[in-house]
Amino acid sequence: MATSSSDPGSGSITDAVRADVPPAELSYGALVGRGLDIDAFLAEYFALTGVDGIRTVTLALGRTPIEVEPFEMVEGIGALESLKSCAGAVQAEITCAHVDAVTSDRAERGVRQKHPEWGIGADVAMARHESPRSGVEYVNFCQLLVSGLPFTLQGLKYGVINAAEAQVIYRETRHLDPAARAEIDARLFTDVHTCFGLGGKKLGSMVRHWALAYVSENETDLAAKALKDRYVNIYPLDAHRMKLVGILPTEYGVAIAQVLARETGRAQAAGDGRNCAQVAADTVLEGLTGVSDPASFSVQLGVVMTDRTLFQGHPEPAYLQGYGIISAQKARELLAGSPAKPLDSWVRRLYTAPGTGDLVAMDQKTRLFSGGLKQFINVRDQFCRTPYCGGRIQHLDHVVQSARGGATRAENASSRCAWCNATKEAPGWEESPIPGDRHTLRVTTSSRHVHTSTAPRMPGTDYYPVRPVSPPPPRRRQ
Ligand SMILES: [Zn+2]
Repeated sequence: MATSSSDPGSGSITDAVRADVPPAELSYGALVGRGLDIDAFLAEYFALTGVDGIRTVTLALGRTPIEVEPFEMVEGIGALESLKSCAGAVQAEITCAHVDAVTSDRAERGVRQKHPEWGIGADVAMARHESPRSGVEYVNFCQLLVSGLPFTLQGLKYGVINAAEAQVIYRETRHLDPAARAEIDARLFTDVHTCFGLGGKKLGSMVRHWALAYVSENETDLAAKALKDRYVNIYPLDAHRMKLVGILPTEYGVAIAQVLARETGRAQAAGDGRNCAQVAADTVLEGLTGVSDPASFSVQLGVVMTDRTLFQGHPEPAYLQGYGIISAQKARELLAGSPAKPLDSWVRRLYTAPGTGDLVAMDQKTRLFSGGLKQFINVRDQFCRTPYCGGRIQHLDHVVQSARGGATRAENASSRCAWCNATKEAPGWEESPIPGDRHTLRVTTSSRHVHTSTAPRMPGTDYYPVRPVSPPPPRRRQ
């Protein structure tokens, strides 16, 4: 944030103070009465106060009285949306300036010459309470918005479009060459009344339509990209369901669609009682697992629960490894339904004595986490432990790297997604475990911002039932 004083001209607050105005006449009302230029005043205020000024205004905004007239209330909602849009534009400009500053500093010091932007996105994302991995895409968005979409940037600043619309324009133009992108950017804002007020879907479709005229990639490139970007993922949706999602090249999708159509057709012809959607889901399940009845799966279920939940019908939820929190009843059903598959001893020890540190004290001589320790850390952490990430566990990481003398022990271990495990090697990034009841680690990013990450609460370590909590206090600088 700039610290140099602007020149707001006559009517500015500093002019008023310099003129020896008595304090009583420095109230907002009095100054407006004397002809204060409020725009110049605010520009000067932010130039002088920088980040602290933004925080002060944020706190003041939180205390804004709510209008009682319906028209004014909706006006207020719109005005606040403009404020968010403008904040998004300024955030993008600051992000670009930050990237430039860090990369030129690294270039000067000869650090990370191959990937000078390494870790910057993670730092920015965590400041925005978002997954570190998403920061790379966010930085790309900011750079393209600031350098390649000047009209969109201005539109965002003045609240003509909101952040979601800016994202749509970015997404639909990022693959174009700069000249084509600039043409579409200008075209959008020569007639804002036709281009905006459409909603994201119609805006996206319109920009895509224009962009097709400029696409330089040929069909072979697009097909290769579709093949390269294929994925399927499954994640918990709620207490009883998981969601399977994916994006596949056309031929994969067509093949799957044909199998599903064939199987649903067969089921209908045979008078099957299931509907088409159910037949399709069962076909996918059988195709992937080779069994049609989930009860006959030979997968191991790791359940962590209290003795009260298991034996006394207590309602405290349990934790199912590879899924997350499940209801007490569901946990009891799972255990009752598989008497032939007793739980591993490490699970029993966790449930009988949560937090005692039995396994925590387990020492390993190798540099690799393995066996009971590996399972323990996976259950303890549940997700990637980088603040705001929560990605799928892919690596067991040394919080303090073994090259720096970090031990292969539970206290110095954390579960990570592959991306975060690589990102922590960014210049200046440091991590260390913090002693305490529940496993906590401190993450200091390259910009020297400190975040902490505490392992999720295990069944038996929490008060139950959960009590309501007060709203958090205003966020202050760390
Ligand atoms: Zn992660």
